[in-house]
Formats: sequence, structure tokens, C-alpha cells
Amino acid sequence: MAKNFHQAIRMCISCRNRQEQKLLVRLQCKEGLLEAFNNTGRSFYICNDCLSNEKKIIKALMRQCKSGEKERLVNRLKEIITDDRKS
Ligand SMILES: [Zn+2]
Repeated sequence: MAKNFHQAIRMCISCRNRQEQKLLVRLQCKEGLLEAFNNTGRSFYICNDCLSNEKKIIKALMRQCKSGEKERLVNRLKEIITDDRKS
């Protein structure tokens, strides 16, 4: 059995690269609004490379949230990331 067997590998919804879960940011959408994952419901992951590239990420976010409000999604994403780094 591989040494790293227990490490969770998740896929970034934007670039579809697989990485360790701890290297990804976990998010969810509620009624079209982007939120940090609160341990309930459906969630998805975004890698740090994609987080630094709004244009790359926005299509994936719109698809996940079923929302066409680009500005709102991007602004909310920035808030979530900033909160995350403070704590
Ligand atoms: Zn990515």
C-alpha cells in the first residue's frame, strides 16, 4: 500500500488538476451565492494557481453556482480567501 494512501486527493474545478485536499480551497454555492464550505452540503475545490487567475476561474464558478453574476462571484471569492488567510 502506498505510503500516502490516506491523503485525500481532490480535483480543482477550474483546471482539473488533482492535488492534496489541504492545498485546495474548499467552497460551496448556496442559491447562487459563493460561500466558504461550512461542512454541510455539496462543495467543490479550487487550487491556488486558479485562485490567482480570476479570468481562468470565473467560468468554473459560474458553472458551479449556476450564476451569471461574474462581479459578485469574484468579489465574494476575494472576501472568502481574505478571511481564510486571516484566521
Ligand atoms: Zn486549478
